[in-house]
Amino acid sequence: MAFCYIGLGANLNDPVSTVKIALHEMSLIPQSRFVAASKIYVSKPMGPADQPDYVNAVALIETQLNAHQLFEYTCRIEQDHGRTRNGEHWGPRTLDLDILLFDQDIIDDDKLTVPHYGIKDREFVIYPLLDISPNLVLPCGTSIESLTENVPLNGMTAL
Ligand code: ADP
Ligand code: MG
Repeated sequence: MAFCYIGLGANLNDPVSTVKIALHEMSLIPQSRFVAASKIYVSKPMGPADQPDYVNAVALIETQLNAHQLFEYTCRIEQDHGRTRNGEHWGPRTLDLDILLFDQDIIDDDKLTVPHYGIKDREFVIYPLLDISPNLVLPCGTSIESLTENVPLNGMTAL
């Protein structure tokens, strides 16, 4: 069994509902047990500010799947939400699911980079991780708690 932290983000089409439904859908992933969810947060977009605020959360799942098998399920959930028919073209994604940590594994191949590359500098990852696991440590030895020194909330609020 492995413990996997998954980051959720959404900023289109009722993102609060999207995140809540996606959390429920993650509880249905086979050979896995939904352990905990963080609070749900509203955060400022990275990059261009002329887009809606983001809704973020992190989930902890215990699973018998390997990281790539789990990723196939999270991609499927993403795709179920992320594609809206807009004429003949696929519209923008409404849900982003990132594998943040998979036990203490280090993965770097064409599909997955784990720990996720944004984990050390994104407030919408760090603070939700701390909700679930205040003593969490990265494979490199850095504690998540210590990352808050350099990463302020940046206007993020819990719902
Ligand atoms: P981002 O999450 O950086 O905004 P995307 O969700 O569009 O960007 O990126 C999707 C791609 O990122 C996928 O093709 C996937 O293979 C790759 N990827 C690499 N590492 C991870 C990870 N840890 N979790 C999710 N996707 C990842
Ligand atoms: Mg992603």
